[in-house]
Parts: sequence; structure tokens; C-alpha cells
Amino acid sequence: MGVNVEKYKEIKHYLDAKEVTLVAVSKIKPVEDILALYNLGQRDFGENYVQEMVDKQAQLPKDTRWHFIGHLQSNKVKYIAPFVHLIQGVDSLKLLQEINKQAIKCNRVINCLLQVHIAQEETKFGMNETELREVQQQGSGLSNVRVAGLMGMASFSDDEAKVRGEFRELKRLQSLVSDHWSLEILSMGMSGDYRMAISEGSTMVRIGSLLFGAR
Ligand SMILES: *Cc1c(COP(=O)(O)O)cnc(C)c1O
Repeated sequence: MGVNVEKYKEIKHYLDAKEVTLVAVSKIKPVEDILALYNLGQRDFGENYVQEMVDKQAQLPKDTRWHFIGHLQSNKVKYIAPFVHLIQGVDSLKLLQEINKQAIKCNRVINCLLQVHIAQEETKFGMNETELREVQQQGSGLSNVRVAGLMGMASFSDDEAKVRGEFRELKRLQSLVSDHWSLEILSMGMSGDYRMAISEGSTMVRIGSLLFGAR
């Protein structure tokens, strides 16, 4: 068990050639596993529980870049605001406003991605096109957040055409809503579908189980 070093190197090599950023999703995995990848040069790590991310951040080198990749409750933003590198799951104007407020308190600008609901599954968080436009219009004046792109999760499905269609939809929305902010990041693709996501324009993939083993 533990980290799959060979797989890491193989994936990293593939992504570097395509200039795609790897976020190693380390949720539930121990600090030693994160450190093993850190020592190979990996800096971007993704977590989706606030308390877990805060605990791990305290134990790892300060130049580790922490990505919050899950659903974030507004009342918990304050715990990660001092150090978070990229909040990938902004799914409401209210949350974006709270991030701005906490960022002001920390005297920093926090990078965010807007999460879009592209899967047909009910359980996945994210905004639809109308909500995305609203956030773009009403959030563009916030001083201490920088919206750097979009994030989406495709359906867990063997139906390739369906998954591909969902990635295309996210890419389409990126070009539609990019007038206020320059949305250069397109975060899509996980262990099971990252190659397809990249072929559809992904610039950042979030990979967990291929690197750290099943959860
Ligand atoms: C857990 C998680 C991932 C990584 O999933 P794997 O299938 O283990 O690669 C990616 N993105 C989000 C939002 C996640 O919650």
C-alpha cells in the first residue's frame, strides 16, 4: 500500500508534456503519504474536509499548495483563508462573498474556481449556467478574490460519450463567461477520466486513488 511512485512519475510525465497541472488528492490519506510525493517534487494537494486540511497544513512544509476541492460551508472559510492556495468549489455568490471577507481579514487575495454542475447525478454540487452568469456579474467587484477558472465533475459512468459531453459543456461555459475574469484554469478530470478530460481542454486534473490507492 502507500504511494504508487511509478504511477506518479508516469502521470506526471504525461501531464508535464501537455502542460496540465496535477493536484494530488490526498483526502483521508496520512501525512506520510503526502510527504512521500512532496519529496518527489509534488506541491499541489487537494483536500475536501476543512479540519483535515488545517491539521495537515500545520504538519507539512509551508510551500505546499493546498487546494480545497469539495463543498465548502461559508462558516468554515475562516479556518482555511490564511493559507489556502485555490478554492475549487465555489458554488454560490454567498460563498464567494464570504471568501472575500475572510481574505480581506488575512490581507491576501484568494484564488477561486467556480464549480459548475455538469453531471446528471443529483448529488454533485455546482452552479448552472444562469447562476454562473449571476455570480460573474455580481461578484466581479469583490476586491480580494480572484476567480481563475471553472471546476466540474463528470458523471461516474462507463458511457464515454456522456462523460465527454459533460466535459465539453464545461469548456463551452468557460468561453461564455470569461469576460469579467480571465478564466484560464479548467479543472476537470479525476483518476478514471483524466485523459479524456485533457483531450477536451482540461488544464488541471485532480487525481487521488491512482496515486494513493483506493480510499
Ligand atoms: C476525491 C475527489 C477527486 C479524486 O478522485 P479519484 O477518483 O480518487 O482520483 C477529485 N475531485 C474531487 C472534487 C474529489 O472529491
